[in-house]
Amino acid sequence: MATSAVQKFRPVVVSGPSGTGKSTLLKRLFAEFPDTFGFSVSHTTRSPRTGEKHGRDYYFTTKEDFLDLVNKNGFIEHAQFGGNYYGTSVQAVKNIAEQSRICILDIEMEGVKQVKRTDLNARFLFLAPPSAEELERRLRGRGTETEESLNKRLAQANNELAFSKEPGAHDKIVVNDDLEKAYTELRSWIVDNGRFGASP
Ligand code: ADP
Ligand code: 5GP
Repeated sequence: MATSAVQKFRPVVVSGPSGTGKSTLLKRLFAEFPDTFGFSVSHTTRSPRTGEKHGRDYYFTTKEDFLDLVNKNGFIEHAQFGGNYYGTSVQAVKNIAEQSRICILDIEMEGVKQVKRTDLNARFLFLAPPSAEELERRLRGRGTETEESLNKRLAQANNELAFSKEPGAHDKIVVNDDLEKAYTELRSWIVDNGRFGASP
């Protein structure tokens, strides 16, 4: 592939604390650019939420099948989060490359560190909450978590935020305070840099 094409198709990794708004913003991006981007559909051992669809939001799987795929080197990266396994399969990313789309991954920080060690040449965007209080409000407001999983997610949010402050951890940080403002910022960084192959 020519350099410009390699630049154009650099995957984008979006991470940030659970409840910060990653899915909300990415859904909007996919709706606006249906042919440009492809969502890397992860495997997970957690249960589906209301409205989530197997093969679209996640590949919902058993722990046994997940670990089987780990042993077969089927994952680019994988991690445990909130008591469940999550991973990006080699196949998920390949599916998007075959469609000539830019691959977007929504993954947590251990996965981010692993992707950095691959030759994917990804760009990394961190979506930060405006405050810890607002993050908790959003997670509670989403109504998807038990008190136990909510607490695990809030505890993990501190690790994500600490990692985001390490130099070079991410190429771009967007604070999701006002949704419109955050979307404009995220969109501009992902679309314009992706299209023109500029450095982050
Ligand atoms: P994530 O994918 O990062 O876990 P979600 O996209 O599910 O987060 O968002 C968590 C909750 O916060 C959802 O109920 C969503 O509607 C809400 N939300 C997202 N962005 C904002 C925002 N800028 N202001 C207020 N609420 C938001
Ligand atoms: P949720 O259960 O809210 O969908 O996701 C929980 C966390 O797991 C989020 O931070 C999300 O980014 C992360 N996640 C989703 N898929 C993957 C994956 O394939 N790998 C890794 N490492 N994290 C993932």
